[in-house]
Amino acid sequence: DACSACGWTAEVFPSIDSTNAQALRQLAAGSQAPLLVLAERQESGRGRRGRAWVSPFGENLYYSLGLRIEGGSYSLDGLSLTVGVAVLRALQESGCVGVGLKWPNDVLVAGRKIAGVLLELSGDPAGLCQVVVGVGVNANMLPGASIAIDQAWTSLREQSGVLVDRTALVLCLNRWLAHYLALHVAEGFAGVRAEWEVEHLWQGRAVTLSAGPQQIEGVVLGVDKQGALRLDVAGEERQFSGGELSLRLR
Ligand code: ATP
Repeated sequence: DACSACGWTAEVFPSIDSTNAQALRQLAAGSQAPLLVLAERQESGRGRRGRAWVSPFGENLYYSLGLRIEGGSYSLDGLSLTVGVAVLRALQESGCVGVGLKWPNDVLVAGRKIAGVLLELSGDPAGLCQVVVGVGVNANMLPGASIAIDQAWTSLREQSGVLVDRTALVLCLNRWLAHYLALHVAEGFAGVRAEWEVEHLWQGRAVTLSAGPQQIEGVVLGVDKQGALRLDVAGEERQFSGGELSLRLR
């Protein structure tokens, strides 16, 4: 039902290990794509690098869109940043004020995380592959003793003071994702880059980039047309990309 408007197939679960894992399994088993997987709860919701996404029952959006793409013609570069812009637009349309992006894939309000994006891939990145676009949005979750998240976070409800209609939020996110994915297919991240930079909270800011054990200090210049972070490091421009990188304000 949530998908009839865009012709996607959908699966909704009361509880699942991870909506991304389910979408990957279904694509591997030959399911038709685009396939949307939604759950009321995730038993082991995933973040980047094996971290967990806290996913209590009935509160939030645990949303994974499974796609089958030709990696060679549809560049994967910057795709998670493109998805971040789509999520941000959906939150703005839902009345969220002051929402912005943090490279590479966080969506923040007043320095607190309100949504996260996790792309997972299987198959051949240069040929036919399966991509799962995972989005977690904190919709109605409020701070409380049972919620243990080790960094600052917020939710749409905390920001707006009203209960969020999650079905409406799914439909809104579907629309923005369809729009930005089409733009990305046509033009690559280059077509989204300017918008992404406008929404980047840390443009021009002094930051520390952690690259494994290495710490690099620089000033954020922006992103390139592949979505790599451009930093001014001691007067010289350097580019950074890859899953192991993490930014902090200095
Ligand atoms: P980076 O800042 O480098 O992007 P990250 O810490 O934001 O990394 P992610 O993998 O994007 O890492 O997200 C996982 C992290 O997000 C968890 O380690 C936890 O700190 C936080 N987190 C987990 N669940 C939630 C949630 N529901 N809302 C907000 N933040 C969460």
